[in-house]
Amino acid sequence: MTETKRRKRKKKKSAPQFTYVQVDTRAPEGTVLPKPKFSPLGAQPGQPGDRSAFGFEIHTRLDGKHGRTGVIHTPHGDIQTPCFIPVATQATMKAVTREQMEDNGAQAMLANAFHLYERPGEAVMNAAGGLNEFMNWDKPTFTDSGGFQVMSLGQGFKKTLAMDVEGMKSDDVIADGKERLAFVDEDGVSFKSPLNGGMHRFSAEISMRVQHNIGADIMFAFDELTTLMNTRRYQEQAVERTYRWAQRCIAEHKRLTEERVGKPYQALFGVVQGANYEDLRRLAASQIGSLDFDGFGIGGAIEKRIMGEICSWICDELPENKPRHVLGIAAVDDIFAGVENGGDTFDCVAPARTARNGAVFTKDGRWNIKRAAYKFDFSPIEEDCDCYTCRNYTRAYVNHLLRAGEMTGATLATIHNERFFIHLLEQIRESMDGGYFAEFRDAYLARFYANGSRG
Ligand SMILES: [Zn+2]
Repeated sequence: MTETKRRKRKKKKSAPQFTYVQVDTRAPEGTVLPKPKFSPLGAQPGQPGDRSAFGFEIHTRLDGKHGRTGVIHTPHGDIQTPCFIPVATQATMKAVTREQMEDNGAQAMLANAFHLYERPGEAVMNAAGGLNEFMNWDKPTFTDSGGFQVMSLGQGFKKTLAMDVEGMKSDDVIADGKERLAFVDEDGVSFKSPLNGGMHRFSAEISMRVQHNIGADIMFAFDELTTLMNTRRYQEQAVERTYRWAQRCIAEHKRLTEERVGKPYQALFGVVQGANYEDLRRLAASQIGSLDFDGFGIGGAIEKRIMGEICSWICDELPENKPRHVLGIAAVDDIFAGVENGGDTFDCVAPARTARNGAVFTKDGRWNIKRAAYKFDFSPIEEDCDCYTCRNYTRAYVNHLLRAGEMTGATLATIHNERFFIHLLEQIRESMDGGYFAEFRDAYLARFYANGSRG
């Protein structure tokens, strides 16, 4: 292709013309800034964040698989992996305080860049001294890039990574008849804010600016999310576009790291897309893996049936010595498949969301505590669970609170479900270090799904 032709083609794809809402990135004059409470590693006055405060060590490897145990070092402390990362979308776990999350054994939390961009806004996050100071959490934090939320405005995505596409119509994924709220072009995404209806713009550079203002220990590059319903041709284009955006994210991240002195280093993870196609996943992983990222995210639409295989293809291509986060995992069997095939950290909103509806996870599967059967059941949700709820309260009490719509019901159920996943990953880690992972997995899954449980 000649240069002129290439330019012409690029011009065609240029950003649509919208009037965008002006975003404040600085606090108003006269704002009294809070005194920082925490002392993250590698933050020195007048100096860019020290990158050596971030790192990853591998402890044990699974035979013939990509799975491993290890430790991620961050400026706000270590994460023993594999590990479940609770989702604190709006800089809080819904209905649960950070003290309760600490008591629950949470090692880190993941907030959402898009939601915090919308509210309270990056100016507030930056003036607060970043996410850790703002939410009073002195352990590691993650933010996702906002790409998922922004792009799901264009299509009604399910909120999880793994999809069970059997029997699913395209209408289930593409919200037909709904107003399209997001538009992807070569440079980024324009979208209508669900909060106030204003037109906003996200791009590689804007996502980096927002995530630097939020200041989490680990952040993700801006990527284009596709669905399993997109055409092969579109998936190819999205992989190439995500690669170009990844390079722009790294450049902007380096610039902001140099510019924003006195702050701890924020690690940047590149995200691997490619849907269900082995060649595209391998291509995406080798492209993203060749760049100067601190770690990687396994994202995009994945068919549940081949979730483990997809992780395995990706980890074949990625450098082994960097951590890998599996974005938005859905279920207990997905966690096992993800760990076995190379995932180190996992986040999911499902345990908290389902808890608020009364669904609790136990070793014997997922069941609903709001059912009448539990009205007179004065045993804990799970007999040997060490969570705060099970140590202090009965099924009958949680049943009553949730039926009465009391907020405490959501709190107690969420604490139990979050502990379930945190503890599951603790047990998986021990089984890997102890050399009995396969036995543990088989016994655990057989019991969990024995009653035909979902989840
Ligand atoms: Zn419990």
